[in-house]
Amino acid sequence: MPVRAENAVNAEQQKFVYDFTEGNKELKDLLGGKGANLAEMTNLGLPVPPGFTITTEACKTYLDSGSEPAELRDEVSAHLAALERKMGKKLGQADDPLLVSVRSGAKFSMPGMMDTVLNIGLSDESVHGLAAISGDERFAWDSYRRLVQMFGKTVLGIEGEPFEEAIEETKKTKGVTTDVELDAADLRSLVEEFKALVLKETGREFPQDAREQMDLAVRAVFESWNGDRAKLYRRQERIPHDLGTAVNICSMVFGNLGPDSGTGVAFTRDPASGQQGVYGDYLQNAQGEDVVAGIRNTVPLAELESLDKKSYDELMRIMETLETHYKDLCDIEFTIERGKLWMLQTRVGKRTAAAAFRIATQLVDQGLIDEAEALQRVNGNQLAQLMFPRFDSNGGGAGVTQIGWGIAASPGAAVGKAVFDSYTAIKWSRSGEQVILIRRETNPDDLDGMLAAEGILTSRGGKTSHAAVVARGMGKTCVCGAEELEVDTKRRRMTTSEGTVVEEGDVVSIDGSSGKVYAGEVPVVPSPVVEYFEGRVSPEAGETDELVQAVHRIMSYADGVRRLRVRANADNAEDAARARRFGAQGIGLCRTEHMFLGERRELVERLILADTAEERQQALSALLPLQQGDFVELFESMDGLPVTVRLLDPPLHEFLPDITELSVRVALAESRKDGNENDLRLLQAVHRLHEQNPMLGLRGVRLGLVIPGLFTMQVRAIAEAAAQRKAAGGDPRAEIMIPLVGTVQELEIVREEAEGVIAEVEKQHGVELKLALGTMIELPRAALTAGQIAESADFFSFGTNDLTQTVWGFSRDDVEASFFTAYLEKGIFGVSPFETIDKDGVGSLVRNAVEAGRATRPDLKLGVCGEHGGDPDSVHFFHEAGLDYVSCSPFRIPVARLESGRAAAKPQG
Ligand code: PEP
Ligand code: MG
Repeated sequence: MPVRAENAVNAEQQKFVYDFTEGNKELKDLLGGKGANLAEMTNLGLPVPPGFTITTEACKTYLDSGSEPAELRDEVSAHLAALERKMGKKLGQADDPLLVSVRSGAKFSMPGMMDTVLNIGLSDESVHGLAAISGDERFAWDSYRRLVQMFGKTVLGIEGEPFEEAIEETKKTKGVTTDVELDAADLRSLVEEFKALVLKETGREFPQDAREQMDLAVRAVFESWNGDRAKLYRRQERIPHDLGTAVNICSMVFGNLGPDSGTGVAFTRDPASGQQGVYGDYLQNAQGEDVVAGIRNTVPLAELESLDKKSYDELMRIMETLETHYKDLCDIEFTIERGKLWMLQTRVGKRTAAAAFRIATQLVDQGLIDEAEALQRVNGNQLAQLMFPRFDSNGGGAGVTQIGWGIAASPGAAVGKAVFDSYTAIKWSRSGEQVILIRRETNPDDLDGMLAAEGILTSRGGKTSHAAVVARGMGKTCVCGAEELEVDTKRRRMTTSEGTVVEEGDVVSIDGSSGKVYAGEVPVVPSPVVEYFEGRVSPEAGETDELVQAVHRIMSYADGVRRLRVRANADNAEDAARARRFGAQGIGLCRTEHMFLGERRELVERLILADTAEERQQALSALLPLQQGDFVELFESMDGLPVTVRLLDPPLHEFLPDITELSVRVALAESRKDGNENDLRLLQAVHRLHEQNPMLGLRGVRLGLVIPGLFTMQVRAIAEAAAQRKAAGGDPRAEIMIPLVGTVQELEIVREEAEGVIAEVEKQHGVELKLALGTMIELPRAALTAGQIAESADFFSFGTNDLTQTVWGFSRDDVEASFFTAYLEKGIFGVSPFETIDKDGVGSLVRNAVEAGRATRPDLKLGVCGEHGGDPDSVHFFHEAGLDYVSCSPFRIPVARLESGRAAAKPQG
């Protein structure tokens, strides 16, 4: 019996090569996804062509040191010898060559990003052996032609174009249009041409030694990990750069041996909708990457039944075995060689957001997984995607016509200007245009353009074409294989079957859920999932679609298991009401500054310009009832739930006119000799309050301490509003929050004053208000002295926006636009720390403050109200850090609920 791989790793740290019989699906770190799953299928007894996997560790050694680990050569020799024994022939053997493929396979799937070389082992000699043994001379020369071409391009770094041109030239001379019409002699002369090209471009002959071919191909795969395309993809998908790729060496089977052969891709369910059924594409008499590349049009998998019933039935059985074994949607690559089915790959397949929710609940209903597992099968980013609007199903608005219909490859509704190449897509999108990238088919070089586009439209290729697979991975809308549209990238236009021409820059709309393509701008309608959250759609079975039911079931489960409460950042009654419909359990941050804008700005000016205590008091007294009115509305809409009101935070000059505008106004008035006294005083005040670094200046608690009466007016407004709501029979639960505290002394002073005001209001109305008083923790010093601060605080709310700004020394208003792109490109961080919490830096301050705060006051309530409160990864961190709640914008509330549930239900270890 083979040694189980886990044991083998422990016993022999330095084992660099694993036979397919030695691995299993848990070993993705070491064997990559492809290698681990090939091993799993081998051990399930499925028909996998024999082979072995070189580990990611070997790749890492190569990338770190510039050469393969010393032991690799011997280990490969031993495994190759075993493979040769199994197959009964030797690699490259002249009369009957064993041929192998050399394929990349990292832990995470990176479609089309890294290299693969097929037909290794063919040479001037063994090509004759292959011809004789297969009885098909054309096939042998075609295989050799493919090897020299792929090897030349991938391993030797020769441009792909001259190879393609040579093929085109041969076809032209022969007067044929397709590759299939080229005969053995044509292909043989192409091989000669290709070899001459290799010699010319590299100064050396195409290697005739099979082992040398294999070793060079392995090295090329290692190196492709650091290719530009691969790096870009990893950044986009947040895949760590230090994982390396494994290399799979697999005995070749051929799908291009005639009409009883072929190759295909299949899904155990529809990756777009989640429906069970027969989904996939099949290409007769074709090899390897032909299907995924989308260069020839495939037939739906169901047609295989009539072409080769035996293989079809076996494939259906295998798909069922795989889905039951993996308990999930699997995608599969297979080849049929002269009527014999071979499995080349399987993995848990990518899927759209809608399919993820549907499949998770379907698998629960089938008894394959439980609800806790279902919760792990979806995520907040997918839920956020489902909350986007989609096209009005009644079709277009004025001037909109449907011009085509393709395959609904990745859902969503996208509208933009037509562009026909990636370069233009990037250029236009940088200048703020929304674009739809239209191509005949895409290839990995289009990745940047796809990223820049709102959606992708292709005229060729199926659900598994490059465009479809990559777009789904990116969460971009995609329609592919819209065959009646003729895409002319050279003239930058496409023509419909009726002759309508869409030029570059014309607006098109594509519907990734129906596959429809429109000229013009189609109006969009809200998502059914949002309608459900809004309470306008009932989640009951029979009354709504399966997606809403699935979302409802998973959300209900998440709500049942989560420990974190979810509040909203909202500062008006409308947002608060929506937040409550979306499941908010209170308000975690009401920023009071909006209450100082608009018509009230004049009162703020009066406050700033006041010369005497009396004038100041007048201005504050005028603001008081307005503030009180705002709070009454807010407490009413959140009746019975906590509402954290933060006292004024931004520097006062933000409420004054712009310094330049005002200076010009005053100067002009002076030159006309009709100067306005008020403007002059205002200008002096603006100058007085002007700061070089306002973010680090007179704001937050500092304002409250130097502008007498400001905070006490706000506290009075809160207390009066609470008393008013109580008198009206309500249940107000106000919490008063002090921003930007750096030391407990600041808080002590404000607290004492606030308590005095609250006591007055309570006495006056004869009520007990039970107002909590707490602080934001948004400065490193506050986090570091949290133990002391907790002595004066009933609660902490982490302001991770400012905390990130001050921990990193990154101006939150500037850095993202100025140099974050460079930082992301250099891999300094994989995601902006303003988006996902920096666990090591900012996060460690949060953890310390939690611990120190609770040590002082065990009942201290802890929350977060920075943007991170609605970010999936950050929510998991806050759960682990032991916070009581997260607070986020109303639209992110469902995401935070779901992720809090996922964090709580996450299996340990
Ligand atoms: C914060 O700093 O995280 C916060 C919530 O406050 P604001 O964004 O208003 O500064
Ligand atoms: Mg802040």
